[in-house]
Amino acid sequence: MEKTDLLSLYPKELEEYIISIGEPKYRAKQLFTQMHKGIAPDDMTNISKATKEKLNDSAFYYLPKIRRKLVSAIDGTVKYLFELSDGNSVESVVMRYKHGNTICVSSQVGCRMGCAFCASTIGGKVRDLTPSEILGQVLMAQTDTGERISNIVMMGIGEPLDNYLNVIRFLKLVGNEDGMNIGYRHISLSTCGIVDKIDALAKENMPITLSISLHASDDATRSSIMPINKKWNISALLDACKRYYSSTGRRISFEYTLIAGKNDTPAAALELARLLNQNLRSKDRSEGFPIHVNLIPVNPVNETHFSASDKQAVTKFASLLEKNGIRATVRRRLGADINASCGQLRREEEKKG
Ligand code: SAH
Repeated sequence: MEKTDLLSLYPKELEEYIISIGEPKYRAKQLFTQMHKGIAPDDMTNISKATKEKLNDSAFYYLPKIRRKLVSAIDGTVKYLFELSDGNSVESVVMRYKHGNTICVSSQVGCRMGCAFCASTIGGKVRDLTPSEILGQVLMAQTDTGERISNIVMMGIGEPLDNYLNVIRFLKLVGNEDGMNIGYRHISLSTCGIVDKIDALAKENMPITLSISLHASDDATRSSIMPINKKWNISALLDACKRYYSSTGRRISFEYTLIAGKNDTPAAALELARLLNQNLRSKDRSEGFPIHVNLIPVNPVNETHFSASDKQAVTKFASLLEKNGIRATVRRRLGADINASCGQLRREEEKKG
């Protein structure tokens, strides 16, 4: 019999499970609140030994183990390589901002999306993470840093919308009032553009912020670096963004990784501004679809041959967007000394094998 994954259960399901092993219903809430603080049932003081034995017989509670931890001497960013119960590993990064601590979590072991510049996709997808494995990253990081985590970005290893049901369950669990209570407004999800799942997400009644990994302003360029564009092109993707905005009212941000000589020319910037203005705004631009572009000089990955645009090209790109009515920021690089962007630490460990 497969053991029940306690940390992946909604409160109602936990109640049903607790009743099924002959325990009183109130036990479920005791378990839920403590498990969602990072306390394992075995370490709970208000639960008897007999109950713990019953739990161990038919269920499990597993938090990822810290396999490696790097702390930036520059800005205190912490990067974790977490080990899962089957020996696979994923990365998470805790960033310290004035408004609170933000964690970047992984949603899959590896990724099958095949973006040309990305370290996470090099070995393909190994498997999806369970809801408890995604939540476990947040709980472990919070326990280890001893500081509350108040914001979550789903921008780590994996494509969250390619692991849709587990990600939705994670989002509902992490938002639970008796659990971590991190509200949807404090959560962003980044996607390479899986259009049918963006539409599904729009119907979930979860006002999270969507980040779209755009990375190019024409289909030929985008298809050459992001295979998903061959299935849903830029126009299909922007239409989905419009639908997401009209049903949730949440702003959408666009990620644009600047790759030298590939997508960083002034012409590309002008095309990007035209594209976003024309597709997402009314003619006189009075209707405020809040568009924001995050520019990220590409982070060179050993196995790929891309290099980052120089400072001048980045500044020029940003100012051309601004001049054309598109808010743009150049992403501040946190944890530069620990190579904090995701995917590369796991690669290093896999290679050591
Ligand atoms: N699969 C999701 C989320 C994971 S990646 C997505 O595609 O959005 C998070 C962000 O980092 C994405 O915008 C991704 O395109 C970007 N990214 C990946 N590799 C990068 C690299 N080497 N340099 C800069 N950004 C990168």
